[in-house]
Amino acid sequence: MSHTHPELTAPGPLAPGGLRVTPLGGLGDVGRNMTVFEYDGRLLIVDCGVLFPEDHHPGVDLILPDFESIRDRLDDVEALVLTHGHEDHIGATPYLLRERSNIPLVGSELTLALLGSKLREHRLKETVHHVVKEGERIAFGPFDLEFVAVNHSIPDALAVAIRTGAGMVLHTGDFKMDQLPLDGRITDLRAFARLGEEGVDLFLTDSTNSEVPGFTTTEKSISPVLDRVFHESDQRIIVACFASHIHRVQQILDAAVEHGRKVAYVGRSMVRNMAVARDLGYLNVPPGVLVDAKELAALAPEKQVLISTGSQGEPMSALSRIAQRSHHFVHIEEGDTVILASSLIPGNENAVYRVINGLARWGARVVHKGNALVHVSGHASAGELLYCYNIVKPRNVMPVHGEIRHLLANGELAKATGVQNVVIAEDGVVVDLIDGKAEITGKVSCGYVFVDGQSVGDITEASLKDRRILGEEGFISVIVVIDSVTGKVAAGPEIHARGFAEDDTTFDAIKQPIIDALDRALADGVKDTHQLQQQVRRVIGRWVSNTHRRRPMIVPVVVES
Ligand SMILES: [Zn+2]
Ligand SMILES: [Zn+2]
Repeated sequence: MSHTHPELTAPGPLAPGGLRVTPLGGLGDVGRNMTVFEYDGRLLIVDCGVLFPEDHHPGVDLILPDFESIRDRLDDVEALVLTHGHEDHIGATPYLLRERSNIPLVGSELTLALLGSKLREHRLKETVHHVVKEGERIAFGPFDLEFVAVNHSIPDALAVAIRTGAGMVLHTGDFKMDQLPLDGRITDLRAFARLGEEGVDLFLTDSTNSEVPGFTTTEKSISPVLDRVFHESDQRIIVACFASHIHRVQQILDAAVEHGRKVAYVGRSMVRNMAVARDLGYLNVPPGVLVDAKELAALAPEKQVLISTGSQGEPMSALSRIAQRSHHFVHIEEGDTVILASSLIPGNENAVYRVINGLARWGARVVHKGNALVHVSGHASAGELLYCYNIVKPRNVMPVHGEIRHLLANGELAKATGVQNVVIAEDGVVVDLIDGKAEITGKVSCGYVFVDGQSVGDITEASLKDRRILGEEGFISVIVVIDSVTGKVAAGPEIHARGFAEDDTTFDAIKQPIIDALDRALADGVKDTHQLQQQVRRVIGRWVSNTHRRRPMIVPVVVES
């Protein structure tokens, strides 16, 4: 197995007839999926998603893939293929289109519809859309694309086969192999087999659940659990799930009809996505079941079902506000039932348990993944991956979509089925497919690009480090005035702190040592205010560290009068 090497440098020019694969995100993290394919001087991009920030990214709204390595070559991009409508696959598209708005966008009807409402929010106009279906074949420049139906936790997901002069790549996108999906649209293993017969030179496979043994449970298995919970509830029911999980919402709607309840959506993305899904026929809303939230509130509690966003404990979401009783029209009451019909994304545990505790404190019964089968994964487990390798029989495998442990586990599965060459690459690692063999040939830069309010890419790792220091250690400012004629301290130091010690007299003990240090430096002929500021920082920094065992941010300001 080839591993990521830290010593890798920029790759040389691509050999004639070779295909270059550069993952710019999604390999090393679950999120911001984006892969660039290069053949004959032209580029094809598959997916362009976001990564959601964690606690160590304070203030960050979103994390994007780094477009730097293709920024000069955006005119060479033939198309952007979107495999499905999840945020980690489409969410960064508006940011890429800001740099070139007419990149052809290729995806299924639902994927492009979900993307379309996002593009409108970003006020991007005149974008170019190509709706494709499974079984369809369409060429963009030298990339001959064929789309294959795959089953996932959102309808209308596609795998894509990419044929070029260098051979065939099959990219699964996100998928699983539910044999009895709600919409009957299974992962098309017959197409996988046909492509395998033709010869798949490089197989890019979803690694998310590669460490999970066996097979992912069918989505339909949730239905009897929902039925039981509905049966046991004699008050209002609130169900939180992902705003893109149309089949989950379908099952909740069906349970509501079965139990004579009405349903309202809460949360902007839920309302928006479900309208798109219903309009296109992906969600079947039985007549009379759906009402708006205000109408629902007027009904008896045992007639109410709310379907809400916020299953990951997002602080601004409807469910978090309900749990804090700060939602403007949903008041949680004793005896209500709350179902968290979703996964628990690593990193969100504390936030989710805070919401569960909040709801429980008001007397709600909380049903979640930990105490009932109200969620199944959207990704193929190890058993399904093994099937795929045996059906496709690829020459080379490159695991995608996962942390390094998932990529490695997926690679082991491929090897176990006899795949000769498994390439483990993380974000930025360049893989060339030449003469039927995939090999790592270099590395391009692909750091995190942070979106913070209106700014994209202005916030750096260094600024986040500052934010973490401010958050954890507080802040001290020191202002000193120097008399440039006498070369002595004329006023100050004035010391103020935030998040450190509220009482400014704490600093009385260090004022004289700062004056002494500055006077000494001035007497030695130091004139540069920057150097004098460094002197101040050293004196107070050492004192704070020794006497208070803290490392706050220190901002010294030395002014000449
Ligand atoms: Zn997905
Ligand atoms: Zn994904």
